[in-house]
Amino acid sequence: MAPRKGRRTQRRDLLQGVSWTGGDVWCHEPVDLAVAGGTVVTPTAITRADVFVAAGRIVAVLPAAGEALAPSCPRARRTLDARGCLVLPGAVDAHVHFREPGLAHKEDWEHASLAAIAGGVTTVLDMPNVVPPTSTAARLAAKAALVAGRSRCHFALYGAMAAGGLDELAPMASAGARGFKVFLGETTASLPAPDDGELLQALARAADLGLRTMVHAENGGVLRASVARLVAPGGPGCDPASLAWHGLARPPVAEVEAVARVCLLAASARAALSIAHLSTAGAVAEVRRRKAAGDLDVRGEACPHHLLLTADQAATLGALAKVNPPLRSAADVDALWAGLADGTIDTVGSDHAPHASAEKEPEGGKITGAASGFAGVQNTVTLLLAAVAAGRLSLRRMVELCAEGPARAWGLWPRKGALAVGADADIAVWRPGPPPAPPRQWSLHPDSPLTRLRRPGGALVATLLDGEVVFAGDRPVGPPRGRWLRG
Ligand SMILES: [Zn+2]
Repeated sequence: MAPRKGRRTQRRDLLQGVSWTGGDVWCHEPVDLAVAGGTVVTPTAITRADVFVAAGRIVAVLPAAGEALAPSCPRARRTLDARGCLVLPGAVDAHVHFREPGLAHKEDWEHASLAAIAGGVTTVLDMPNVVPPTSTAARLAAKAALVAGRSRCHFALYGAMAAGGLDELAPMASAGARGFKVFLGETTASLPAPDDGELLQALARAADLGLRTMVHAENGGVLRASVARLVAPGGPGCDPASLAWHGLARPPVAEVEAVARVCLLAASARAALSIAHLSTAGAVAEVRRRKAAGDLDVRGEACPHHLLLTADQAATLGALAKVNPPLRSAADVDALWAGLADGTIDTVGSDHAPHASAEKEPEGGKITGAASGFAGVQNTVTLLLAAVAAGRLSLRRMVELCAEGPARAWGLWPRKGALAVGADADIAVWRPGPPPAPPRQWSLHPDSPLTRLRRPGGALVATLLDGEVVFAGDRPVGPPRGRWLRG
């Protein structure tokens, strides 16, 4: 079919680095790949288009040539048929615990990074609460070296902002940390929480370094007092084996207070924040209020489990659904969705945090003995696609939350998180609708309340990293190609 003149002009405008000539449309230099005929989500449109890739980057996004698979550039060396599919930027999951070094019995990088690309995630930011913690420049460099050559997705690393670690922040930044993570209460592979004075100083240091800090915001004192009340004689009489007990041990006020406090300190220090895994209506309101005040660069993160499950819905799963912060009430879930809709929440991250199966068992019948967290990186996008299909979220907003938002927050935009000319060709092709069979889960310990209780909303067709197909046909393809994205 001879292309219309107008379209040819449009092509010339969109193409950068690829030249066109003559009466027939053709490329002087053949491009490497065309992802053809899919519904493409770009930063400005959702449209049927062909995405052209050369040397690992997107060189053009052009209107698709009718219903037939006839890429509008005839000189692509390979064509990936994306008809009937959604073509999304690879997701950027800014909250994963891939557990190395030191905790590889819970998860290892081979399994976790394969789970990522099997779920359309092409970049992860990995947390520092490993053993030993990523709390010095030497440990950060050692972790990057440990992962190099083994990762199937691109990765960036957080440095720990912990008690006594003020003077490690600048060296970690020089060594390639993309941001910092601070735990205000205790967590897996405990990192001691800084007190408020230390936290203020550390945030000021992070601001000087130009790095954002992600915060696990729960007040440790409130958590300890809540547990003491639960175990005291004459306590509330909640079954210590139940998920409800865990919710009472970590009440909403612990999160709301910690969010308010860290925002106050960060505003004073002129530091940029991301509040991890918002779970309560009160914390969402606090972030909304700070954003409206305009004196603080604060981003809100939500996790799929807090968005898609209440504590009551997951109660029968017991310790499997134990996570910090806990699953909450229906009113809290509604507040999170309102936060997604109005921009209070900027990113969705999985908080992928698997444990060995035995570690998830309640010890002596008490849920306190079970580890918190579970797998998630493979299922975030597909579960949100189900929410899109159900009308709870627009496709555009979903891509903002899973790709653009985290890429912007962590300095990866526009090379990551966008299907646009000049961006890295990290691409996920999804067939919308529930997959014909439950997809194989690739995490070392993949069990999760979400895979038990919620249906996926898309079947992954292919994932591309730098223009190379790395996952297709329910299998990884080729060697690990993930690169370290130094901060
Ligand atoms: Zn986490």
